[in-house]
Amino acid sequence: MITIKNAEQIALMRKAGALLYETLRTVAKAVRPGVTTLELDRLAEAFIRDHGAVPSFLGYEGFPGSLCTSADNCVIHGIPSDRQVLREGTVLSLDCGLILEGWQSDSALTVPVGEISSEAKRLIGITERSFFAGAKAAVNGNRLGDIGNAVQRVAESAGFGVVRDYTGHGIGRDMHEEPSVYNFGRPGRGQRIQAGMTLAIEPMITAGDWHTDEGDDGWAVLTRDGKPAAHYEHTVVVRDSGLPEILTLPGYQWEEETNGPDPL
Ligand code: MG
Ligand code: MG
Repeated sequence: MITIKNAEQIALMRKAGALLYETLRTVAKAVRPGVTTLELDRLAEAFIRDHGAVPSFLGYEGFPGSLCTSADNCVIHGIPSDRQVLREGTVLSLDCGLILEGWQSDSALTVPVGEISSEAKRLIGITERSFFAGAKAAVNGNRLGDIGNAVQRVAESAGFGVVRDYTGHGIGRDMHEEPSVYNFGRPGRGQRIQAGMTLAIEPMITAGDWHTDEGDDGWAVLTRDGKPAAHYEHTVVVRDSGLPEILTLPGYQWEEETNGPDPL
């Protein structure tokens, strides 16, 4: 069942989204060569708890972290580790979620560790652009296929792959609610998008082929061809009319940007 949120509930999700934005910004600023992904995880957890919220990933189906740290060929669900020391040139995806006053928020971004290749920068830029293209289609009366198609067109026209096996999702009191939000699809197909729907839209884009395999730890999702991937996610709410509000990007105005803001 898809849950439609009322104004009061959306206001609470806005608060959760704003806190998650600050959390990810704080973590992203700490990314540099020599830092371990476990240090980033501890930073995220402390920030979330210090602000009266609960890290939603921690313990979710047994996940051991508050943050997913997915480096290079790891697409999503990387487990933070004190043995993983970040190195210059790495492409690092940071995915985090929290619960504030009973309401969930979920967001991810991909950041460079030190200097990265121009191709890696292009991968990150296109992944962000594909999110904004998809989010622009999250309009009352559209169909879910409009979102997926918009994401897919941006990524594939840039020569990149769209991961098929994992999707975005509805979100609210639960982290994963209906519907699944695919990053590929046909315009005008799929369920109708309605005002008050809250969606986590999250393109997972690969530099090469889109096929993935599960890592040995049972969590990490890795590109089969070993090439890097990027991930970009926001929690959005569909408005009665016009473009959606991006709850995990407080104050974002669609008119100002075409390619999304600088996350830092
Ligand atoms: Mg996420
Ligand atoms: Mg998500």
